Amino acid sequence: MGKFKQLGLSKPILKVLEELEFTKPTEIQEQAIPLLLEGHSDFIGLAQTGTGKTAAFGLPLLERIDPSNRSTQALVLAPTRELGQQIAEQLETFSKYMEKVNVLAVYGGAAISNQIRALKKPTQVIIATPGRLIDLIKRKAVFLDELEYLVMDEADEMLNMGFKKELDKILSYTPVEKLTWLFSATMPSEIKKIVKKYMEDPVEVKIDVKNKVNTNIEHQFAVLKRSDKLEALCRFIDIYPEMRAVVFCRTKRDTQELAESLLQINYKADAIHGDLSQKQRDRVMGRFKKNDLQLLIATDVAARGIDVNDLTHVFHFTVPDDESYYTHRSGRTARAGKKGISISFINGREGYKIRNFEKKLKINFQQVEIPDADKIASIRIEKWAENILMTNQSERLNAKLVKKVSKLFSSISKEELIENLLSIQLDQLNLGSNKDLNTETEKSDRKEGGRGRGGRSGSNRYGRDRRSKGRSGGSKNHRKGNKKATSDSKKSTKKKKRY
Ligand code: AMP
Repeated sequence: MGKFKQLGLSKPILKVLEELEFTKPTEIQEQAIPLLLEGHSDFIGLAQTGTGKTAAFGLPLLERIDPSNRSTQALVLAPTRELGQQIAEQLETFSKYMEKVNVLAVYGGAAISNQIRALKKPTQVIIATPGRLIDLIKRKAVFLDELEYLVMDEADEMLNMGFKKELDKILSYTPVEKLTWLFSATMPSEIKKIVKKYMEDPVEVKIDVKNKVNTNIEHQFAVLKRSDKLEALCRFIDIYPEMRAVVFCRTKRDTQELAESLLQINYKADAIHGDLSQKQRDRVMGRFKKNDLQLLIATDVAARGIDVNDLTHVFHFTVPDDESYYTHRSGRTARAGKKGISISFINGREGYKIRNFEKKLKINFQQVEIPDADKIASIRIEKWAENILMTNQSERLNAKLVKKVSKLFSSISKEELIENLLSIQLDQLNLGSNKDLNTETEKSDRKEGGRGRGGRSGSNRYGRDRRSKGRSGGSKNHRKGNKKATSDSKKSTKKKKRY
């Protein structure tokens, strides 16, 4: 806490930081806070999400706001609604012990009338997505003529999302003498243009990407066939039951399909991508935050602004080409000083991507094996047995039916019954056909883009047979009290020594 004090923060803020257990400032906070608390120049912070940049600008911003002045003094622009809401929540928390400062987040995808109503109250700090802000300015619900501080958060992402025109427009509504603080993970030429046009001699602080990615994240990769990816993912989840992960796919369609496949086989997963309505996105995020979902399947853009601590893993179901995407994705784990694992699934021809990340990001990758089928079978069987033991359905069942079934089983011993049930369950685990998923090896980089895609007839894009219930039949059955054995399963009751 002493370190935060040295940065020049006031008592009410220090008290909150203590409550939040922020014991020492992150790198961006250490460098930016003193400059932003006192400074009279524009500022550029080159830092990724997850580096603590919200507090880096949020704390000095709150310290500089005059609560007795009712006009809008600060505007924070953010690319997405999620990020906007998170910034607002954090600012509310940080200002808990200060004289009341009104903070409001406004964004698209929610009723504008409610936001107009809320803005009737003097609002000293507005956090906004660009499109909605322009609407509100046009409707005379927001006035920026007394603005003193403009923060652009994730400026590169705002441009990626096509907000260039909106930014120009918003900037034209603001007084020239305000201070502009711009945060961006990267510095593409479009951002340089904005800096040149709208900022005056900015002070620049750069948090080295390699420091950021490197510290608490373990980078791993597994080489496997595309068609084995789903099973591989399931095995990693099974072997690490405490897992909370974001799984990245390249396209919306892949994201949706993967989430559906996982759901079918009873993993708590859902997708977040740009085709969802804001309401749907909020619902998914809410469930993920509440721990109702174990896995969030996301596209790169949709994952911007996801601020969930305690993620143990990030999976790159499809590996990005660009290293800044890799950095951004991996940065979803190992937040706030915790450790995390980032696992890339590559096919035999994608080794060059890993080497490229190693070189450009100065990080090391470790190749890992996909968990062994026998071990997984044992874990899944234990779970299955545990579920049976935990199930207490006696009250729900019809006594006559129980009697009838008991009679049917009276000719076999308990041991035989267990053996038969186990055999059925093992078949349903669907591990037999592709037991060892570690057969794929790296191939020469030069042939990149060639063959190597999984066959698709009769199976979905991740190799699970659409017609077969696979593991889902098994787990669904046992979770619901194992009411019904399929005729396929009955056929397989002849003992197979598989395990
Ligand atoms: P941000 O990059 O602002 O999204 O912050 C990432 C996460 O780190 C947030 O959940 C913050 O609450 C947390 N955080 C920020 N600064 C600190 C700090 N100095 N110590 C511990 N956690 C922090």
